[in-house]
Amino acid sequence: MVDAVIIGGGVCGCSLLYELSRYQISAVLVEKENDVSVGTTKANSAIVHAGYDPHPGTKMARYNVEGNALIKELCAKLDVPYKQIGSLVLAFDAEQDALVRELFERGTKNGVPDMRVLTAQEVWEMEPNVSREVTSALYAPSAGIVSPWELAIALAETAVKNGAEVRLNSEVTAIEKIDGGFRVTAGGEAIETRFVVNAAGIWSDRVHDMVNAHAFTVTANKGEYYLLDKSQGTLVSHVIFQCPSKVGKGVLVSPTVHGNLIVGPNAEDAEKGDLGTTGEGLAFVKKMAMRSVPNIGFRDSIRNFAGLRANTEIDDFLIGETEQKGFFDVAGIKSPGLTSAPSIARDVVRMLGEAGLPLKAREQFIDERRVVRFKHLSHEERAAAIARNPLYGQIVCRCETITEGEIVDALHRPLPPCSVDGVKRRCGSGMGRCQGGFCGPKVQQIIARELGIPQEQVMMDRAGTAIITGETKMGGRAE
Ligand SMILES: Cc1cc2nc3c(=O)[nH]c(=O)nc-3n(C[C@H](O)[C@H](O)[C@H](O)COP(=O)(O)OP(=O)(O)OC[C@H]3O[C@@H](n4cnc5c(N)ncnc54)[C@H](O)[C@@H]3O)c2cc1C
Repeated sequence: MVDAVIIGGGVCGCSLLYELSRYQISAVLVEKENDVSVGTTKANSAIVHAGYDPHPGTKMARYNVEGNALIKELCAKLDVPYKQIGSLVLAFDAEQDALVRELFERGTKNGVPDMRVLTAQEVWEMEPNVSREVTSALYAPSAGIVSPWELAIALAETAVKNGAEVRLNSEVTAIEKIDGGFRVTAGGEAIETRFVVNAAGIWSDRVHDMVNAHAFTVTANKGEYYLLDKSQGTLVSHVIFQCPSKVGKGVLVSPTVHGNLIVGPNAEDAEKGDLGTTGEGLAFVKKMAMRSVPNIGFRDSIRNFAGLRANTEIDDFLIGETEQKGFFDVAGIKSPGLTSAPSIARDVVRMLGEAGLPLKAREQFIDERRVVRFKHLSHEERAAAIARNPLYGQIVCRCETITEGEIVDALHRPLPPCSVDGVKRRCGSGMGRCQGGFCGPKVQQIIARELGIPQEQVMMDRAGTAIITGETKMGGRAE
């Protein structure tokens, strides 16, 4: 019997696995897809929120502010792209000026540091491309931007290095109460465990109901985005929000940690699993964004995508032990769930400890990770890297300057990817202007070579997304 099974490899599940791997216990994360971070964790605004938005006293408020500080530390330790660029919430009239002041009050109560209410003039001095219609803004310097999928992957990799287990392609289909714990059926295999944590994102109601009475329903709410080329990446230098409303935090315009500009999201109820973008949704996003920053060059859009919020009946996270002793929900984790995940994880570990999980610290906990990012190296460092491994001298992705050495490194890290998009999430190949049009086949060849599998078995992304069905004219083999 293992000590704990975590269901779901999003940022919440991976944060929890990382925190549990500090202790001398056996923890297994089961994920239904072929990689971690492929649910809502890979499709969101990627903002590390400051924490003025949630109402004081809520779980969201507490975890948001704590998570904001923790993410900064984690990203430094685990070498995850993060930038503390600060955020502005723009007001456009007297009613919104009042809302900005209310957000300032809320933030103060929540413990958000160093906020200020700015005049329109101060806003334009900080952000010359912001609309001349602005009347005031809330400035929160502790807000940041992060690579959400790289954060989840780094946490999972570190947990694996410390002895935790990740089982991919392992959908949980049944959970049974047994003596002293649970029998979880994942990927057709039974795992007996003392504790279960349900971090299954938009499917967390279904997982909860496998062994508990129905208590909540997750409704998916879709947010659609534009991702713009790096030519637009410096249009603004802070996260530019509009005033929040009942349906969400409004449409934002922000640089990304990878140097692009992200614009979105809208908020529309959707079917679970419906990740399609719509002309109507994107037109709304465009119109709203141009209210904040009128000269966004939408012609430089390189991708549209959508993410699904895990809304429930209550306007807060659902975290804690259920009626089944030993079963914990981490459910309804909508925004600011990315920011909150590290703090939620610490709190759930505390709860597991109180419920009887022995938390004896591992003697040699590995708590650092370094990744070669060739394009960020100096000339001298590049020369040294190539001397060490000539594959760093082969550029595979020209848009993003990603080398074969980095791709090979990713394929031999503790939680190796098995798809072209899995490699993309780890090293950024295919994230540029051509969106993998040129480097995709080469990446596919490298994956096949390094994993020792036929090229036709290399998927674009999840199971069933085959790229080729047989050998190509080139012979389909890596040189
Ligand atoms: C449009 C949008 C914008 C957002 N912007 C921000 C933001 O800027 N900042 C912020 O802090 N938060 C933001 N969020 C919220 C944040 O993205 C989420 O709270 C967070 O990613 C949730 O992580 P998770 O681990 O709970 O869920 P997920 O990432 O969805 O992970 C759940 C995992 O469980 C797996 N799973 C499901 N069922 C099973 C099963 N039966 N067996 C095994 N595995 C299973 C899924 O495959 C998935 O990988 C945003 C959300 C959306 C939708």
